[in-house]
Amino acid sequence: MGAGPGDPGLITLRGVQCLAQADLVLHDWLVNPAILRHANPAAEIACLGSHGAKATQRVIPQDEVNARMVTAAQQGKTVVRLKGGDPDVFGRSAEEIEALDAAGIPVETVPGVTAALAAAGYAGIPITHGKHCSAVALVTGHERHNKVGPPLDYGALARFPGTLVFYMGVTTAPHWSGALITEGKPADTPVAIVRRCSLPDQQTVRCTLATLPETIAEHRLRPPAVIIVGQAVALATEVPWFASRPLFGQCVLVTRPKDQAGPLWQRLTDLGAEVLQQPAIRISDPADWGPVDATLERLDRYDWLVFSSVNGVRYLLDRLCNGGGDLRRLGHMKLAAIGPATADELRRYRLQADLMPQQYRAESLADELVAKAGGERFLLARASRGREVLAQRLTAAGSTVDQIVVYSSTDVPQPEPEVAAAMSAGRIDWVTVTSSAIARSLGDLFGEQLHQPKLASISPITSGVLRELGFEPAVEAVEYTMDGLIEVMLANQEGTVQ
Ligand code: SAH
Repeated sequence: MGAGPGDPGLITLRGVQCLAQADLVLHDWLVNPAILRHANPAAEIACLGSHGAKATQRVIPQDEVNARMVTAAQQGKTVVRLKGGDPDVFGRSAEEIEALDAAGIPVETVPGVTAALAAAGYAGIPITHGKHCSAVALVTGHERHNKVGPPLDYGALARFPGTLVFYMGVTTAPHWSGALITEGKPADTPVAIVRRCSLPDQQTVRCTLATLPETIAEHRLRPPAVIIVGQAVALATEVPWFASRPLFGQCVLVTRPKDQAGPLWQRLTDLGAEVLQQPAIRISDPADWGPVDATLERLDRYDWLVFSSVNGVRYLLDRLCNGGGDLRRLGHMKLAAIGPATADELRRYRLQADLMPQQYRAESLADELVAKAGGERFLLARASRGREVLAQRLTAAGSTVDQIVVYSSTDVPQPEPEVAAAMSAGRIDWVTVTSSAIARSLGDLFGEQLHQPKLASISPITSGVLRELGFEPAVEAVEYTMDGLIEVMLANQEGTVQ
């Protein structure tokens, strides 16, 4: 199966179906690990080196790969052999299929987007063109020493009437570019080197056939890269769509709890950012469900049920429904939500919030509740830690207030090694800080290193906590939502670019 060139969105639907059915997934280094999330969680996943292997990593010999596939299949397992790009383009699929055929094991091939086509789309190079180039050749820059048949005919390639795309041609560029020139290909033929195509750090460098070796050396370009040779390069878009997205080249750390980070991750990725994840806090069941269960039995005591987070909605309503109750239990109460995400979560349970404040924070929620229903009886569904301002203001206004802890929020003790390394290397441009608890935990996780990236704060309260810890946020959301946060990051980015 082909995994595509890097962008995890470029896998095929058939590929996703096969991954979900696999018992064993054998992949190369070139495959973006993000694709492996389509695999059945019970599947065994192993990396086999091969293309893209780093010097320190052992490359598993082809015979061993074949044997492993055959053995697993003979045990009745469904095996996905996952390769970067397309398996039939310099992917050794023929050798593997031969071994499987010999063992009588049925095989299906799932094509993928090969690097040359990804470079065309993502680097804006029209490798065919109605007026200028009518043919494309995919060429290896690295011929196998045990190849059967004659070596590459550079004379024929020099005369080829179209675009040449070299794979595995970075380290061998002096050899093949020299050979093409010797065989008569004009030295000033336009060339583009497209490195890590379709990934957030995609890079395109242009030169000519004659200057290719020195250009690679000067820019210290390492594989994986495809090298495109021909007039097509002269027709390329100056800044392709992929590189002109507003956050292209920016590395952003998302710090929300794992199961809530998805939408923010997706939006930032679509805007071109490389997104790393480091949940700063972990959300889990409360230490004791006893008080929650008892309260759920006595909801008639309250006029209002107040939610100050999405998690509050989720944990309380799931507990109610999973315990045999249903939403009719809330029928007599009015519902308040601190902001649009919380109100949306209520809607997912088919509930409509009766009140959502103008400003999405506890102070505003308290003021509006007091104005509308001061003196009534409130139940606040809250985290194991959090701010007291809501309860205080409601009580001060003469209301009866009970709080129940419906979920617990704890700090994550250590950063992931990959994130810690990126932070130490100064590779992270932005850190999103989406609550006060996250701000505190980030201070513990990264200490002084948190001065280096730009901090994007969700609200004045969160900014206050950051300042208390000695960190000045670079931007603060005007609207206290994830979209609001992205908006101010984009505005800051535009300011930097101009
Ligand atoms: N089967 C793969 C090619 C494997 S050969 C495919 O169809 O794309 C390995 C070579 O592929 C690399 O040396 C490089 O030339 C190219 N390649 C793979 N992924 C790439 C990427 N994201 N950007 C640029 N080149 C890539």
